[in-house]
Amino acid sequence: MSAPSIGDVFRARRVLGGLLPPTPTWSYSALSATLGADVLVKHENVQPTGAFKVRGGLNLLAGMSLEDRQRGIVGYSTGNHAQSLAYAAGHTGVSCTIVMPENPNPVKAAAVRARGAEVVEHGQNLDGACEFAAKLAAESGARLVSAGDEPALVAGVGTAYLELFEQAPDVDVVVVPVGGGSGAAAACVVAAAVAPGCEIVAVQAAASPAAHDSWRSGKVVTRPNRSVAEGLATGTGFELTQGLMRDHLSDFLLVDDDTIAEAQWIMLRDAHTLTEGAGAASVAALLAHPERFAGKRVAVMCTGANASESELRAVTRLPAAQAA
Ligand SMILES: *Cc1c(COP(=O)(O)O)cnc(C)c1O
Repeated sequence: MSAPSIGDVFRARRVLGGLLPPTPTWSYSALSATLGADVLVKHENVQPTGAFKVRGGLNLLAGMSLEDRQRGIVGYSTGNHAQSLAYAAGHTGVSCTIVMPENPNPVKAAAVRARGAEVVEHGQNLDGACEFAAKLAAESGARLVSAGDEPALVAGVGTAYLELFEQAPDVDVVVVPVGGGSGAAAACVVAAAVAPGCEIVAVQAAASPAAHDSWRSGKVVTRPNRSVAEGLATGTGFELTQGLMRDHLSDFLLVDDDTIAEAQWIMLRDAHTLTEGAGAASVAALLAHPERFAGKRVAVMCTGANASESELRAVTRLPAAQAA
């Protein structure tokens, strides 16, 4: 497996050009005031699947041979990777099976089914779902799509950062929420090539710190996986994305789930933007580590908006005293 280059990201942009319009990058004075920095929001929440991952799925499927497409794909996901693969499979006419951990976010499971993919619920968490997906793929001959070790996913996701650096060439730092690490790895590839002075800072949930701990220790490790922010909830690091992050990531922060919920509320209040937990984790990083970002021009990746109904209702009921 070879790491994607900036050339692969430019090629992905040509693939996606006719399929997805660029997403906006906007600033909100209320949000900047709350966070004590000059904040820009990259709005991946407006993607047709409600999350950035669709860029990777479309790029991966576009690069598959006809023969591989006929065998179909099997993925495992807590939801947004699943929606991305289902969307791309629907677009290219490929059959798609997704293994989701038991009791998935109902909004995400329904969206995957609505796009024509088959959903199988298996396992307590993503790691259990992964094992079962590998078994299904081995039995059927379908292509198993990893959640992290897929160069085409990273290259596709990288197009978001090409857009960002064109829309905001003067950002000092980009904050990227991490689960498997495809987003942060892509940010590293693109920043190294087109914005070498810009820092890339990753953030993961303290309750699911596998990618963080893998990066800090320099080797892929497995950790408890208990965050309620599904997009961040992976129990193990991935070789490909960890390698890319090692090359160019400036820092890796952790935030607790309560701070993520507070950040979701702040995004609603100050940026009129609905986020799922993972989609607000960048904002949570600024809440939890204000000194790290004070006075800087900071782009926060708003990676997704697929919150469940109970999650949204809870966010709007947070006690006001917590508000900054
Ligand atoms: C998957 C996901 C992430 C984490 O992205 P990785 O590329 O897996 O690190 C962040 N936010 C949302 C909304 C996601 O769906």
